[in-house]
Amino acid sequence: IKVAVLLERRPDEKRVAMVPAVAEKLSKLGCDICIFSGAGLNSKLPDSAYSTVSFAHSDSELLSDAAIVLAVQPPTLEQVNLLQPRTILLSFIYAHKEPELTCLLRDKNITCFAMEQVPRISRAQAMDALSSQAALAGYYAALLGATKLARILPMMTTAVGSIRPARCLVMGLGVAGLQALATARRLGAITEGYDVRPETKEQAESLGAKFVDTGVDARGEGGYARELTADEKEKIASVVTRHIQQADIVITTAAIPGRPSPKLISKAQVDGMKLGAVIIDLAAEGGGNCEYSQPGKTIEQGQITIAAPFNVPSMLAEHASELYAKNLLNLLQLMIINNAINLNWDDEVLAKTVLTHNGEIKPAAVKTALE
Ligand code: NAD
Repeated sequence: IKVAVLLERRPDEKRVAMVPAVAEKLSKLGCDICIFSGAGLNSKLPDSAYSTVSFAHSDSELLSDAAIVLAVQPPTLEQVNLLQPRTILLSFIYAHKEPELTCLLRDKNITCFAMEQVPRISRAQAMDALSSQAALAGYYAALLGATKLARILPMMTTAVGSIRPARCLVMGLGVAGLQALATARRLGAITEGYDVRPETKEQAESLGAKFVDTGVDARGEGGYARELTADEKEKIASVVTRHIQQADIVITTAAIPGRPSPKLISKAQVDGMKLGAVIIDLAAEGGGNCEYSQPGKTIEQGQITIAAPFNVPSMLAEHASELYAKNLLNLLQLMIINNAINLNWDDEVLAKTVLTHNGEIKPAAVKTALE
C-alpha cells in the first residue's frame, strides 16, 4: 500500500502529517511510505530522521501511484488533480470554507476523510485531531498571555514586598480552554473559567479554577454549544463583565460548529479592562471572540493588548505533528486490515468522517450547502 505524505503548502503551516515513530508502525501494517523531501523540516524532522521511508522531489512523483495520501491542511487543487480515482485522502478540509476543493474531490472520485469530522465519541478519542491540536493551542495561549503581560503570574515574596498573583479568566471551556486553565494555574495565576455548558463547572473546578456561573444553559447538539438569544447575552454580560475587567489575562476559545465565533467580549467591556491586561483570542479562524480582535494580528487597544493568532498548533509544530500523525495512524488502523485496505462503512467513525466517496459528497449538510 503506497502512502504519500504531502509537503504543506499553506503559508505559516509548519506541521507535517508523518513522524518517524508513526512511519515505522505504518510500515509494519504493510505500507510503503513516500514523503515529499523536506516536508518535516519545519517540525524539526529532516529527511535523515525518517528511516523506513522513501522521498519524492515533486508532487507528480509523489502522487501518481499513491493509494493513501496524508496531509495536515487541505491539499491544493493541483495536488488533487494528480491523484488517481479512489485514492484515500486523510486531511483537515473544512468543506464549508473549501467548496471548490470539496467538489473537485467528489469529481475526481477521491475517498476523502476530513479530520475535523471525526466524531467526538469515546472510541474515537485516539483519532480526534481537533482535540489533540486544541490541547496544544490552549497550553500555548496561556504562555502567550504570560509573555505579553508586563507582570508576573505567580505570587512572589521578595525583600521589598510581595507581588500578588495575576488573574486569568478563560472563556469557553472545551479542550483548549481547559488546557489553558490548567497551564495558567501551573504558572501561578488565580484562574477563573466560564462556559455556557453547565457540565464545564465541575471540569473547571477540578483544575483549581473558580467557575463563573451565569445561570445560562446553552447546551446544543453533540456536546457542543448553541448560539445564545439576546436575553441570554444580556444576562451573561451582567455577570461576566466584572470578571473580564478584574482579569490580567483573558483567554477566549469559544466556537459553535459551522457558525462564526460568538462575540464574548464587547468593545465596551475591553474599554473597562485593567491597564496592561492581555486578551488571547484563540477563535481567530472563526473571526474572533472579541469585538476588537483582528484575526491574525496583535493590536494595542488603549493599554490593552489583544492577540488573535491564526493556527496556534503550528507554532508547536514538533509536538503538534507527533500527535496529529498518531491520530492519523489510529484512523488508518481501522482501514488497513491484513495488509490490505478494507473500508467498513458500518463503522461509525469511518461513516461520519468521510467527506467524499464514490463521486458523492457524503455529509447531508455539506451536500445541501454545496450542491
Ligand atoms: P469547541 O472548540 O467547539 O468550543 C469551545 C468551547 O466554547 C465549548 O466548550 C463551548 O461550549 C464554548 N462556547 C460556545 N459558545 C460560547 C459562549 N457564547 N460563551 C462561552 N462559551 C461558549 O469545543 P471543543 O473543545 O471542540 O469541545 C466540544 C465538546 O466536545 C465538549 O463538550 C468536549 O468535552 C467534547 N469532546 C468530547 C470528546 C470525546 O468524547 N471523544 C472529545 C473532545 C471533545
